[in-house]
Amino acid sequence: MKKEAEMPDVVGKELPHLWNAMHRYHPGAQQMVAASGEGSWFTDESGNRYLDGVSGLWCLNLGHGRQEIIDAATAQMKKLTYFPLTMSHNPAVKLANKISSLLGGGYQTFFSNSGSEANETAFKIVRQYHKQTGNPDKFKIISRYRAYHGSTLGALSATAQANRRVKYDPGVPGFLHVYPPYHYRSIFGGEPEESDLKAAQLIEEMINWEGEETVAALIMEPFISGGGVIIPSMQYIQRVAEICKKYNVLLIMDEVVSGYGRTGKMFGFMHAEGVQPDIITMAKGLTSGYLPLGATAVKSNIYDVFKEEGKDNHFRHVSTYGGHPAACAVALKNIEIIENENIVERVNELGKSKLSQLHQLMEHENVGEVRQIGFLLGLEMVTDQKSKVPLEDSKMAEIVSKCKKKGLIIGRNGDTVPGQNNVIIIAPPLSSTEEDLDFLVETVESVICSV
Ligand code: PMP
Repeated sequence: MKKEAEMPDVVGKELPHLWNAMHRYHPGAQQMVAASGEGSWFTDESGNRYLDGVSGLWCLNLGHGRQEIIDAATAQMKKLTYFPLTMSHNPAVKLANKISSLLGGGYQTFFSNSGSEANETAFKIVRQYHKQTGNPDKFKIISRYRAYHGSTLGALSATAQANRRVKYDPGVPGFLHVYPPYHYRSIFGGEPEESDLKAAQLIEEMINWEGEETVAALIMEPFISGGGVIIPSMQYIQRVAEICKKYNVLLIMDEVVSGYGRTGKMFGFMHAEGVQPDIITMAKGLTSGYLPLGATAVKSNIYDVFKEEGKDNHFRHVSTYGGHPAACAVALKNIEIIENENIVERVNELGKSKLSQLHQLMEHENVGEVRQIGFLLGLEMVTDQKSKVPLEDSKMAEIVSKCKKKGLIIGRNGDTVPGQNNVIIIAPPLSSTEEDLDFLVETVESVICSV
């Protein structure tokens, strides 16, 4: 790697025709242009190497360049390049079986291309399900403030972060938002579990005030990730599941980030004993980012309502590329590696022995809270621990930029107080070596201490 002093702040070339995602225009700024990757590292076009501390967009779970995954895609493309799932193909059938068995059995899976589409698919399923089971007025979908569920209009309507939505509102009708289990700044105060259970109670209140006959589903991530890594007590997740069951509100678990080992269980909801969601959506870690794929796994009793004979009750939904044969082959190989290399256990062990060292940063006045579950961490930055005032934007930007200069990419997110992104996000590839994790921890510690 080049010496720190030699590294320019923004590297790469002018990009005259490419419109970046989440683009903010900075006159004269040049974008980072990645050239190649190896394991948890990538190299830009100027030859600088970086450890990717956020796995791309939390998806590159097995890192760059796994030959077995590349071979699986190539072999599948040679054998059957494309086939629509209006019929079926072997990789999709096998993958749907595998997903069902990972979830404990009894799930039917609909494939798409992304997390947003997986959630859109879930919303259409729940609305149709209730229409076909004698509850035609059940159409409302509840989500929690600070949640991110995707960029398409339906998924964005479930996304309850004002700064991502205002330019595109009004969203799709029928989406409601409720207070999240954010005990660090909870209006309820008290112990985390106690305040989280009050947040759960608000969901029951909302269902009652809205009229239970109008509420179709609740969508939640087990651990809000993009909204600042919010980790509720497991009793919260259990209580929400109970409330949903009580009112025939289908529970959609968004496992787009937390699925496939990121949190130290195969799926995040598995941390909460006894919880079995009606619908589970996934993407990202399903293929470790090697190819795009989204999946919506639905309990068989819901699927049954779509296949009664002699009725026009089929699911009128299709995606040209959803469940592409190569993407399904990649997902199967990805899951095989996760199982064979005990990636989930690895996340537990190294999460405890390596990444949890970042909890020591609590000694630093600007670190308000360190939240961690497995390889998913959020460091909530404040001006001082007592006031909890979010650390100002310029300081947050400085931390991210200093890490980058030292060869580490970290994320920044939160929406803690609307629009304020004062949470540092750390979510390295699950296959990162111990040396990679040491480098990550040392760099974050030294940068935070220097700012
Ligand atoms: N759900 C969650 C929890 C996510 O974090 C994301 C993406 N960051 C999505 C859904 C949407 O996924 P995609 O970008 O693949 O559409």
